[in-house]
Amino acid sequence: MKPVVVLIGRPNVGKSTLFNRLTRSRSALVADAPGLTRDRQYGDGRIGDRPYFVVDTGGVVTGLATAKDREDVTSGVATQVRTALTEADTVILIVDALEGIHPVDRVLAADLRRLGKPVWLAVNKTEGRDPATVTGEFYALGFGEPAAISAAHGEGVEELIRRVLEKLPVEEEIEPDQSVPRIAVIGKPNVGKSTLVNALLGEQRVVVCDEPGTTRDSIHVPVERAGRRYVLIDTAGVRRRARIDDLLEKFSVLKTLQAIDQANVAILVIDAQVGVAEQDASLAGYALEAGRALVVAVNKWDAVESSDRDWAKRELERKLPFLDFARMHFISARDGTGVGGLFRSVDEAHASAQRAMATPKLNRVLQAAVTATPPPLVRGRRARPKYAHQGGKNPPRIVIHGNQVASLSKSYRRYLANTFRKAFHLIGTPVLIECRQEE
Ligand code: GDP
Ligand code: GDP
Repeated sequence: MKPVVVLIGRPNVGKSTLFNRLTRSRSALVADAPGLTRDRQYGDGRIGDRPYFVVDTGGVVTGLATAKDREDVTSGVATQVRTALTEADTVILIVDALEGIHPVDRVLAADLRRLGKPVWLAVNKTEGRDPATVTGEFYALGFGEPAAISAAHGEGVEELIRRVLEKLPVEEEIEPDQSVPRIAVIGKPNVGKSTLVNALLGEQRVVVCDEPGTTRDSIHVPVERAGRRYVLIDTAGVRRRARIDDLLEKFSVLKTLQAIDQANVAILVIDAQVGVAEQDASLAGYALEAGRALVVAVNKWDAVESSDRDWAKRELERKLPFLDFARMHFISARDGTGVGGLFRSVDEAHASAQRAMATPKLNRVLQAAVTATPPPLVRGRRARPKYAHQGGKNPPRIVIHGNQVASLSKSYRRYLANTFRKAFHLIGTPVLIECRQEE
């Protein structure tokens, strides 16, 4: 489980600038897929061998600081910040060196002290200034030595995150058994995840101990079906007794991200009655970025009039063009229809993600693809892809060697990926193309 670092502070202190810096390592896959959005408040990063999640609480924090919102903890905005804080392993409070201590900083500091979690104080916008002088007044907030940073210029940021992570226990990364599909059922609130998890569990009576873990943990349930084993990662909390903290929303983006991390196949559930919304695309973006195999379940199909179904299918395909590699199922979790098909597609996606691709065949496919459609000229030069080999699995990664291959356009890389996809029957998994240039 990656540690969760939450950024908090008044508006304009530089939270989103810091967030962007801490989550730089985003995959080209998502950027390449037009129409895929992602939630800018949740991201992940890695420093050395230590991965982490980072949450930007956004400009909403003044809500927390007003008396009204502190009384009315159920107000959406304050709840969101509180949810993030509940899920945090550590908090970075950001203040603005140019403005000095602001009254809201003191209110936040007091709130955070009551939280009882490690809090780091980062004094931002300190570029070109002497750290000792500029941080001096901020000792008064009571979090010890403040870190002088410049989020915009990247100064002090790496050192800060290193220190933050050093204080957190290192969790051993146990390489999970990839031979068993580990399924995360993901989707917005109310799309029918809990109902689907129950349908996937079927008649099984699985004993799950109610471990005290934190609320952001998901429960992993072993499932057997038609003689095959699966692990179901229950983000919906179906298997947890209803003792969830009232303050926590039932839906947690972080819990979803952790589940995607731990899974090797994600089932993205979409509500047929609602259609595709931005949050669906954003969750798909996380799964894709993590390189997960994916199956789409359009749920509540029973509630769609038969005369509307063709239109509804076209509409979904039009809005999810970036998921055209994944199987789409039209199901009713409530009635249990289509569940068997989902398992078959999970198997297929899982097998595709793990596919071993022999080098001679990869090379034959590459040569045929390049002959059929040569790469276009870039500034008078033509890239010459020569060899291919498999660089990894989960998801399949194909490394292409040759002259000028670094200049291959996104659309040409997509063409190659689709060609390999067809040749090796890679269905339901992203395919990564990595170009290694020879000079
Ligand atoms: P947020 O509202 O806390 O998320 O703040 P933003 O990240 O949007 O930043 C607010 C403003 O501060 C923007 O104009 C940033 O360009 C600026 N800013 C952020 N970091 C720095 C920094 O390190 N130095 C300076 N001088 N300005 C910064
Ligand atoms: P979750 O928040 O994603 O876990 O969603 P739930 O499983 O709690 O379901 C939300 C609502 O949708 C409930 O009222 C369910 O009864 C309803 N629902 C779930 N699956 C179906 C379905 O296949 N068809 C219809 N018509 N309703 C469904």
